[in-house]
Amino acid sequence: MARKRAERRALERDVKKQLEQKDKLAALSPGGAPERAIEVASASLVEPMARASKCPRCGGDVRLEEHVVERGLRVVRVRCTACGSPRALYYRIAALH
Ligand SMILES: [Zn+2]
Repeated sequence: MARKRAERRALERDVKKQLEQKDKLAALSPGGAPERAIEVASASLVEPMARASKCPRCGGDVRLEEHVVERGLRVVRVRCTACGSPRALYYRIAALH
């Protein structure tokens, strides 16, 4: 019994590590951090783009929770409808020419 528990704990640790790895990768992908904000032509594109993104943890659909302006960037907070993990996406509205 004790061994089974230990095995399960080890498995949970592995899963946690994998999830942390996925979160790290997501933060390094476009839009995953303020310095990697995705440039969009118009503010009206921000929400559809955020809604079309997938959960980096499980690939599930996300729902939009918040859309705010922070330090000149559009920050959209989404949450996975499948696993519930939250994510922030960053967009920059391209300057008009
Ligand atoms: Zn998910």
